[in-house]
Amino acid sequence: MVGAIADELLVNTEAGRQVRTILGYNLSEAAKWADCIRSIKKEDDFELDHAPSGECKQFAPPAEQDRMENYVERNWSNCASRPPGGCHTEYHFADVDIRRDGYSRQFIGTGPTDIVVAINSAVLVLQGKPPLERISIKDRKEAILLIAHFVGDIHQPLHVGSVYLNEKGELVDPDALPKQAWALSKINRDYHTRGGNSLVFSSGQKLHGVWDSISWNHDKLAPFVARAKAVPPTQAQVDMLAALWASESVKLSRRAFDGLEFSDKGDDHKWRISASDPGAYKTKVDEIQKAQVAKAGARLAELLQQIWPE
Ligand SMILES: [Zn+2]
Repeated sequence: MVGAIADELLVNTEAGRQVRTILGYNLSEAAKWADCIRSIKKEDDFELDHAPSGECKQFAPPAEQDRMENYVERNWSNCASRPPGGCHTEYHFADVDIRRDGYSRQFIGTGPTDIVVAINSAVLVLQGKPPLERISIKDRKEAILLIAHFVGDIHQPLHVGSVYLNEKGELVDPDALPKQAWALSKINRDYHTRGGNSLVFSSGQKLHGVWDSISWNHDKLAPFVARAKAVPPTQAQVDMLAALWASESVKLSRRAFDGLEFSDKGDDHKWRISASDPGAYKTKVDEIQKAQVAKAGARLAELLQQIWPE
């Protein structure tokens, strides 16, 4: 939906023409790519176990499949401690404590493979420069595929802001601990709530999932395009955009945690959570999601128009 909004905003613009020429399809398709590649696992080789279908069917042609496999291979073990799905799965988020005033690489939960670095790396590739640090992006098409997805993710509050909890379900400030190896491994092992994936409602639903899925009608694009047109430009250099947007999301994430109560940590390393007013919480989620989807669409278009002005 974020891609579809940006497609509309870029009709008859230089950025719109460039994107279509480089990609061969729209941003609404491109935005799914970074999730479609999650099905590629390392067996003997990096290979899709079946041809992309459903939401990923755009990437079914052999050249597109090769591109996916090649990207995953280059971005599999280029991070400090590789997650089971490969290092590229880290590019979708950061985990900044919700009490910080914004995003900074000084803070716990950020790093050389976080979402801000990923967007900035892709921007550099679009500018004809090498990507930052560890992330491998081979060409402009790959850069646009990543940007189309990550600009959506960076506007989802649970993709940037996080809480760190002790065994009693009390907030721990990860940035107040000494920046030493023992503290970092304790944070990761004991306090990390993994973007809300370790916070579970009694229904079994993860908090992250509540924020990632939408329960409102997303078939009607026009109201969102209208709303996106009203989003004021960020007014910053293109290499500053991701950090500014992440900072907004850190602040917004406080509202996502407002009205939630945390239980003791369970034996499964998860915390049960409940909303003090479930109805009000649901209304708040819907409102924030709608605003953020429109904003992300506007900003995807904004970023690409900074790369390719009229
Ligand atoms: Zn994502």
